Amino acid sequence: METAEKKKIVLSAIQPTGTPTLGNYLGALKNWKDMSEGEYNCLYAVADLHSLTVRPEPADLRRRTLEMYAILLALGIDPEKNIVFIQSHVPQHAQLAWLLNCCTQFGEAARMTQFKDKSEKHPENVNVGLFTYPILMAADILLYQTDFVPIGADQKQHLELARDIAERFNTVYGNTFKIPEPFIGKVGASVMSLQDPVHKMSKSDPNPRAFISMLDDDNVIVKKIKSAVTDSEAVVKYAEGKDGINNLMGIYSCCTGKNFEEIEQEFEGKGYGDFKSAVAEAVVEELRPFKDEFNRLMNDKAYLTECAKAGAEKASHFAARTLSKAMKKTGLFQL
Ligand code: ATP
Ligand code: MG
Repeated sequence: METAEKKKIVLSAIQPTGTPTLGNYLGALKNWKDMSEGEYNCLYAVADLHSLTVRPEPADLRRRTLEMYAILLALGIDPEKNIVFIQSHVPQHAQLAWLLNCCTQFGEAARMTQFKDKSEKHPENVNVGLFTYPILMAADILLYQTDFVPIGADQKQHLELARDIAERFNTVYGNTFKIPEPFIGKVGASVMSLQDPVHKMSKSDPNPRAFISMLDDDNVIVKKIKSAVTDSEAVVKYAEGKDGINNLMGIYSCCTGKNFEEIEQEFEGKGYGDFKSAVAEAVVEELRPFKDEFNRLMNDKAYLTECAKAGAEKASHFAARTLSKAMKKTGLFQL
C-alpha cells in the first residue's frame, strides 16, 4: 500500500454469521474479487465484532470466523497483494467507533432500517450493539481513508451515515477522514429470497430453502432453484409483479453475462422448468471453482492463521495512523 499511494483504497467487510449466500456473492463478494486484481488497494475484513450483535454460540463464532476467512481467499483474493484480516485483531476499529459514537446523533442512528428490521426479528435481544452497528461500520471504513466501499443495496443507508459522520467530524475538528463512496454492482445489487422474492436473500434466514449458500452441494442448488417461488404466467420476461422471475433472471444474468433481452429471447416459447434448469446449471458452474478451493484451504489451517496474522499486522499499521490523528484532533491528551 505504501509504494502505490495513488491507488484508490477499497474496504469492505462481511459478518461471520453463516455461510455467505448467492446474494452476498453476487452483491458484494464477486466485486471484492474483481476489485482486488490490481487496480485498487483492497482491505477485506471478517466482521466478527459486528456479528456479536446477534450473540452467536462462542464455538460457532470461532469456527465460522476462520471459515469466512477461507471463503475470502477461496474467491481468489490474493492475501499478499491485498489486506485480508479479522476485524477484532485490529483494536483500532472499536477505539475509533467510540470517537464516532460521540459524533452521531441518537435520531440519526434510530432511523436505520436494518436496526428496525433486526430488532423486530430478534425482539428478545435488542442490544445497544445492534443500535450502534452502523457506527462501528463507519469506523471500519474511515480508519483506512477508504475511497470505495463495495456493498449490496441493503447497506447503502449505512454508508450514507458513515459519510455524514465523517463530514461532521471533519467540520468540527478539521479535515481527518476521506469521505467514502459506495460501489454497488448493477444486477447483483439485490438478490432476493427464493421463497419470498420481495425480501432480500439473507444468510441468517431461518428457512434454508430461501437462500443458496455458496457451499451448497450441486444437487441442493438445483433443488432450491427448482422450488423457487415464481408466478403462473409461464413467460420468462422481466416485468413488474414478476418478482420471482425477475430475481432468477438477475441471478442468471450475473452468472452468464447475458442481459435481460438476450435471456428473454433464449427462453421464448419455453416454460419455467427449462429456465430454472438453466439458472441452476449456471449457478453450479459459477460456484464450482470456489468450492474446490475452499475445501483445499480448510485442510490447511496453519496457512490460514498465518495469513490472518499478517493481514492484521498490515491493517493495524494504517489503522493506527488514522486513529492517532483523530485522537489528537479531538483534544485527547497525547503522551
Ligand atoms: P445477515 O443476515 O447476518 O445480516 P447478510 O446476508 O445481510 O447477513 P452481511 O454480512 O450483512 O450479510 O453483508 C455482507 C455483504 O453482502 C454486504 O455488502 C451486503 O450489502 C451484501 N448483501 C447481503 N445480502 C445481499 C443480497 N440479498 N443481495 C445483494 N447483496 C447482499
Ligand atoms: Mg446484513
